[in-house]
Amino acid sequence: MVSVDKEKCIGCGACVAVCSEVFELTSEGKAKVKDSYAGGNEECIDQAVSICPVQAIKKF
Ligand code: SF4
Repeated sequence: MVSVDKEKCIGCGACVAVCSEVFELTSEGKAKVKDSYAGGNEECIDQAVSICPVQAIKKF
């Protein structure tokens, strides 16, 4: 699974750009994992982890 640390996220949108299947921006301007996400998409999650400028995305 994957999570976004809201405290760290600066809302740049990069994770959404590379992996919109999994991430979305909230009305607060922070990224979150979509409620509909049920696993998979490992490759694009890895891209999002790599591209996030503040290391806010964690896989576990
Ligand atoms: S790439 Fe990182 S900082 Fe940018 S919106 Fe996604 S989680 Fe937030």
